[in-house]
Amino acid sequence: MPSATLVKPGSKVSLKDISPDYAGPQTKEEAEARLNTLRGELEAQQEIMYAAGEHSLLVIFQGMDTSGKDGAIRGVFGDVNPAGCRVESFKVPTEEERAHDFLWRVHKVTPRRGMTAVFNRSHYEDVLVVRVHDLVPKKVWKKRYDTINQFEAMLADSNTIILKFFLHISKEEQEKRLIAREGDVEKAWKLSAADWRERDYWDEYQAAYEDALGKCSTDVAPWYIVPANRKWYRNLVIAETVVEAVKGYRKEWARTLEMMSQERLAELHAYRAQQQAQQKG
Ligand code: ADP
Repeated sequence: MPSATLVKPGSKVSLKDISPDYAGPQTKEEAEARLNTLRGELEAQQEIMYAAGEHSLLVIFQGMDTSGKDGAIRGVFGDVNPAGCRVESFKVPTEEERAHDFLWRVHKVTPRRGMTAVFNRSHYEDVLVVRVHDLVPKKVWKKRYDTINQFEAMLADSNTIILKFFLHISKEEQEKRLIAREGDVEKAWKLSAADWRERDYWDEYQAAYEDALGKCSTDVAPWYIVPANRKWYRNLVIAETVVEAVKGYRKEWARTLEMMSQERLAELHAYRAQQQAQQKG
């Protein structure tokens, strides 16, 4: 089965040792067919999770510009009922957001029970862009790794299933994608000079990612590194990982749903019996 690299809690991550080009043994066509099946499974899982109302799912996407966060969200979660799934994007904080602690804007949009929330960027920006550009002093961002771990542990304690994906592309692939956007009128709106400026900080970002992945991968909120130079493989790996992680809960949800069904049916039968008794009497 194609798989992402699960970051071991407390390990030292070396991104250059993981190939962004890796694409597993299957062909693109096989991957696309399998992805289709997995998209259906994700849709079914969401329905059951919603009905059982016991857990929520939080999926976090991070990656360099053009790493494919938008594409992965569409490609993997495109079949999930929008009534049960929300995408949240985190941009440069507003003045109000900056006037609060860095988790304030994040905590507000974590998923309630039954729901899936997909984060396009996240609180990790506060140890990534913030660190690379010295937006706060080092002694402030250094403490955030522990704060993030505590925050995510608290969410997990409240029945949030957390999965975090780093979309790993190469610097050469990023250049190709940026240039391709310039030649594509439908994608050119995404262009900004800032993307090229940020590219100059590639190594600093990779180092910041290595720290974030190593320090903040925990049993209850693991980080996965996804080879993302090939979009079809990226989507396949993410979908496999989410389906596999959620599978373990399905029995519990099915039991809850069965109990709920029995209670509702008993109520209905009691109501009918009462109606019949009234008609007779
Ligand atoms: P996209 O996510 O599609 O690239 P934008 O081009 O609007 O969307 O980029 C969002 C920008 O917001 C990124 O450059 C990102 O680094 C920045 N950003 C997100 N969170 C923070 C934060 N906490 N502090 C500073 N900048 C942030």
